[in-house]
Amino acid sequence: MKTTSCTLRLNNAPRCDARTKHNNGLPCRSPAVRGKRRCRIHGGAKGSGAPKGNTNAIKHGCTTSEIKTFKKAVKTALCKADQLQKELG
Ligand SMILES: [Zn+2]
Repeated sequence: MKTTSCTLRLNNAPRCDARTKHNNGLPCRSPAVRGKRRCRIHGGAKGSGAPKGNTNAIKHGCTTSEIKTFKKAVKTALCKADQLQKELG
């Protein structure tokens, strides 16, 4: 089979890792849209997805970016406290 540069670029493109029913739950494996993790069918198309800061789907707020940042800061502080406690004995 003859391979062109276009074919090579498509073969080396990052793959969509969306789980699909038609593939028995395995990843889709279609080429992902440039700059995105999904193919054009699974959410990589232009204009798809929620805008930044969209709060339509918030139910309890435990997974917002502010909470994630706060949890990370607390975890880092606890690690530093553990290290300091080990150093002091
Ligand atoms: Zn896909």
